[in-house]
Order: sequence, then C-alpha cells, then structure tokens
Amino acid sequence: MDFEKFFTESLDGLKEEGRYRVFADLERHKGNFPKATRHKPDGTVTDVTVWCSNDYLGMGQNPKVSDAMKEAIDRAGTGAGGTRNISGTTHYHVLLEKELADLHNKESALLFTSGYVSNWAALGTLGAQIPNMIIFSDASNHASMIEGVRHSRAQKVIWKHNDVKDLEEKLAAADPDAPKLIAFESVYSMDGDIAPIKEICDVADKYGAMTYLDEVHAVGLYGPRGGGIAEREGLMDRIDVIEGTLGKAYGVMGGYITASEALCDFVRSFASGFIFTTAIPPAIAAGAAASIQHLKMSSFERKQQQERVARLRARLDARGIPHMMNDSHIVPVMVGDAAKCKMISDMLLDDYGIYVQPINYPTVPRKTERLRFTPTPLHSDADIENLVSALHDLWSQCALSRAVA
Ligand SMILES: *Cc1c(COP(=O)(O)O)cnc(C)c1O
Repeated sequence: MDFEKFFTESLDGLKEEGRYRVFADLERHKGNFPKATRHKPDGTVTDVTVWCSNDYLGMGQNPKVSDAMKEAIDRAGTGAGGTRNISGTTHYHVLLEKELADLHNKESALLFTSGYVSNWAALGTLGAQIPNMIIFSDASNHASMIEGVRHSRAQKVIWKHNDVKDLEEKLAAADPDAPKLIAFESVYSMDGDIAPIKEICDVADKYGAMTYLDEVHAVGLYGPRGGGIAEREGLMDRIDVIEGTLGKAYGVMGGYITASEALCDFVRSFASGFIFTTAIPPAIAAGAAASIQHLKMSSFERKQQQERVARLRARLDARGIPHMMNDSHIVPVMVGDAAKCKMISDMLLDDYGIYVQPINYPTVPRKTERLRFTPTPLHSDADIENLVSALHDLWSQCALSRAVA
C-alpha cells in the first residue's frame, strides 16, 4: 500500500469538506492575558486578543499558581518519575486529591492525566466491571464519555439531550434488575446550556441508577467555592461521581473523579488508564491545588467573568449580532454556514487581531456553525468594543442576517 498517498488523499477529503483544522501558533504573555503574539506561517508575528480560551478565569497566569509550580519544581524536580503505583505518588498528589474531595464534599478523589482520560477510564471501568451494566448517555455527551462507554462494551442507551422525560421512558423500558448508570454534563460546551440536574437525580433515584456528572465546563466557575453547577444547586450529595478537569478554569492540566471511598478505590484498582501511565508532574499537582484553593475562597473572578459575559451579550444585542441565549458563560455567535464561519474567523484573525476558532461540523450540527466566545474577567471594555465592531463590519460584508432587537 502507498501509505503517503492514503494519508494525503484522506486529508484532501477533509479540506474539501471544510473540516481540515489549522492551529494558530500563539505565544501568551504572562501578565497581559488575554493578549498573545501570533506566529504566522510566513514567519512574521502579530498581536492578537484571544477570545476562545478555556482558561476561563485567567488562572493560568495567576501568580499564586505559577509560584506554587515553581516552588514544587525547586523542591521536588520535574516529572513524577513513575506511575502512581511505582514511585509516582508524591505528597503533592495526595494533597491535591484531598483538595478535590473537599471541593465536591466527597469521601475521595482520584487524579488522571487529563479530563479526557478520567472520563474514558472511569466510565470504561465501571461499564466493563459491573456485570450487566446499562449506561444511559445524554446525546450531547463529550467524546471522552462516548469513548469510555464504547470501550467498556456495556449496553448503551442514548437519551435525548437534557430531556428527562425521554430519559425516564428509556429507564422504564430497561431490565429492572440490570444495574444502571446515567452519564451527563452540567454545562454543555458548545451551546452553553445547563442540564436539569435535580430532575435527573429524581429519576435516577426512582430507577436505582448511579449518576455520573461531567462538570468540566463548570468547576471553578459556579457555586460559592467553585464546585460547579451541582454545588450551586445544592445537589453534590445526590451525584455519585463528579468528574472535572484541572486544565480549563483551573488553568493547569489533569483530570479527576470524586466519589465514595469505595468507588474511587475500585477505579484506582481496576482502570488501565489510571494504573499504566506516569502520574502528572508534582508541579502540576501543586499548581492545580493552589488554583482550587484560591477559587474556593475568592468569588471575585467568577463575578467579574459573569459581568463581562453580560456586557458582551448586551453589546452584541445592540448591533443585532445573533447569539444563542443560555445561562452560562459561553457565548455562541451563530453563523449557520461552514464556509462563512471559517472565513469570518480568518478575517477576524488577519484583519482585526481577534482570535476565535470556527466551530463547524462534526463538533456541532451542520447549519449551526458558529463562533464560540468565552469572555474572561480580563477582557476589557475596549476588547469587547473591538470585537463587536469587527463582527458588525463582517456581518455586513458577508451579508449575514441580523437578530431583530
Ligand atoms: C475538555 C473536555 C473534557 C476533557 O478534559 P481535558 O482535561 O481537556 O482532557 C471532558 N469533558 C468535556 C465536556 C470537555 O469539554
């Protein structure tokens, strides 16, 4: 087989469909968030304002976090040196797991190398090891949960997104004796909509199902201590497994689950994706712990972010730029056309110094292509005005329809 030809032709197919992804080569500047230098393919550089970061609160540049990381490197060196089982468990890992269990008011927590791995390994293990398990998965669940369920080979039932009635019908139709798990997210990252957690817990109780909640886009951001939407709604004790990331609002890297002592110990003991991989570096654990501690005490960043989100929405409304309403910090500006979405994103970057990645199929359904803006506490009024006036120009230039006020 001509492998090179196969690769090139497959990539050409993606390009023809407008699905080929091009990375922006950015250099962030500590102390100047959300500004960055963009290294262009021709070797030149330009200044950009980043409008699509999942470092939602700018914690990736918080001095408490970077100081904790530097101190840990100076005290403990760089890598963990092994899997958790073979000399890779440092005191930093133990302290971080305590911090996480406390954050979600659970008995225990278990760290993974990323949020993706935590979903893949935890769902994969629960689904594979619990005999006759049926996993009820929200139709909009993240790829990491889908892969975890698939890997488990457990029976999978997909219920309509955020539709508790459909979930209940599917639970009622299943074998009453089979163990059941309901997997869902709190804040869905593309539409920014929020799950009816209480209602889902109610049907879970009725059918004796375990609940598994991905709070990746909510931890650090919601609840009085940053415990997520379940904390805000007073529902953490009704969720069996809360999963999160240390790479988004916490600004570092890594993923975790929190749950009962027995469940965490079970996953620790049976999950290949936990056992056979080197632990995260001690400095990462130290930085994540500092970030969580800070956001447990400080609501300043959360309040400031929510104020910035409201301001961006109001300014978009004033110019008739259509955006999807939701109750979260995610502002999807709807374009509804793959080619135009990519073109607007390119023009924003090249002509206005505004970086926002286009979101096209298969991440979102066709005809709902969009630009996904994530205002942070550090986007200034001027940043917002620049963005809205650039969108205003491009909306006219591309003959896109406006929202009616
Ligand atoms: C990003 C994401 C993950 C994966 O977390 P990482 O730490 O980035 O691997 C899991 N779930 C959802 C919903 C996500 O958006």
